Amino acid sequence: MVRAAIDAAAAAGERDVPVGAVVFDSAGRELARAANAREALGDPTAHAEILALRRAAAVHGDGWRLEGATLAVTLEPCTMCAGALVLARVGRLVFGAWEPKTGAVGSLWDVVRDRRLNHRPEVRGGVLADECAALLDQFFRTQR
Ligand SMILES: [Zn+2]
Repeated sequence: MVRAAIDAAAAAGERDVPVGAVVFDSAGRELARAANAREALGDPTAHAEILALRRAAAVHGDGWRLEGATLAVTLEPCTMCAGALVLARVGRLVFGAWEPKTGAVGSLWDVVRDRRLNHRPEVRGGVLADECAALLDQFFRTQR
C-alpha cells in the first residue's frame, strides 16, 4: 500500500513536495489516489491525504464516511491531515517516512491516537521509510 503511495507521489508537480496518498476499501481495492498539489492548486489544504480522502469519499458510496478504509501515505501526516482522517473514520493508517518537524502521528503530536477522540484508527508508521524519505531528499536537493 505504501508502494502505491510512492507511485502516487510521482504525480506531484515539479514545485510540489512529492508526497503521495492512496485510499483502499476494506477489501483492499484502491478507491482513490492523489499527490500533494498545494503549489499546483494554490490551495493550502491540498495535501495528498486531503485530496485522496475527498476523492475516495466521492466513490465509496457511504457519504463522507470511510469506515474500514486504509489510508496509505508516504509521509507522516500533519495535524490537518491527521484530523481529517480521524473525522473520515478511516480504519487504518499506514505511512512511510517520519516527519519530526510537523508529524501528528507520533512525532510532534499524536492526533490519531488521542484517547479523547471517539475514533482511533490502527496505525503503522515507518513502512518503506527509507524509500519514502529518499523521494523528499531528492526533491529538496534540487530545490536548493
Ligand atoms: Zn497534511
